[in-house]
Amino acid sequence: MSEPTDQLASPGSDGSPRDPGGQVRCPWCGSVEVERVAEFGPQLLTHAYRCSRCRSPFEVIRRS
Ligand SMILES: [Zn+2]
Repeated sequence: MSEPTDQLASPGSDGSPRDPGGQVRCPWCGSVEVERVAEFGPQLLTHAYRCSRCRSPFEVIRRS
């Protein structure tokens, strides 16, 4: 049995603040202390977050 080759996503090409570990980080200050806020607008493909440290809102593109 050999392990299948991992398909690595192209690094940093989509501009997503989500890092490979799946942890959402604030794109402004890099803090992982973020909180999910209600989605706003028609964009259902994004999640709205707000940083608990610098209070800056940001969106994360939901990847299926
Ligand atoms: Zn922040």
